[in-house]
Amino acid sequence: MSEVLRISTFNPPGVVYGFGTRHLDWERLRSLYPDHTIAQLRQVHSTRVLETEGEGDGIFTTKRGKLLVIKTADCLPILLADKEGKVAAALHAGWRGLCGGIIPQGLRALREKGFPPEKLLVALGPSIGPCCYRVGEEVRECFKNSGLPYRFHGENLDLPTTARLHLLGLGVAEVHTLPLCTHCHPDLFFSFRRGDKKSRMLSFIGLVDIK
Ligand SMILES: [Zn+2]
Repeated sequence: MSEVLRISTFNPPGVVYGFGTRHLDWERLRSLYPDHTIAQLRQVHSTRVLETEGEGDGIFTTKRGKLLVIKTADCLPILLADKEGKVAAALHAGWRGLCGGIIPQGLRALREKGFPPEKLLVALGPSIGPCCYRVGEEVRECFKNSGLPYRFHGENLDLPTTARLHLLGLGVAEVHTLPLCTHCHPDLFFSFRRGDKKSRMLSFIGLVDIK
């Protein structure tokens, strides 16, 4: 029973991270990282990116010992760190966030802190896949008007590829993907579309001392 999934190619130095499955709850997460404080957001499908807890959908830190947590069940969790383990960030990205530009907002916030995209490594976690994410015309309209790249397969939006296009288009060094659909894997994931209206997976990233 996997509690936490990671991507073998995404290992920034001085960083701890994971994509929690449905088998990782808050209590277990705290027990895995007893020396960390936890920071989370009141997520509202916005494009707001903050350095402290509050209402928004992106959070970043340059402090060690702070675990940034994003909650999802079909939306895409995006974890970011720089190549030297000096900054960590987490974004919550559904279609509204991506279409509104949460990725450019997040990258702008990190650039202002001294971390340009070319120094950043990114991991995309499990989300609803293009196999299952049929969306209405308003979603396509939103992307058409956004000026941002996007990818559909017929009537289905491809969230991870859309995020990847945004990240690479803005010059991020590496994007790693965990290509698992939350809707297709009820044993591992909650899925809003499948009926999990309240339960969320916990994805997290934080900075630790480099040994
Ligand atoms: Zn699927």
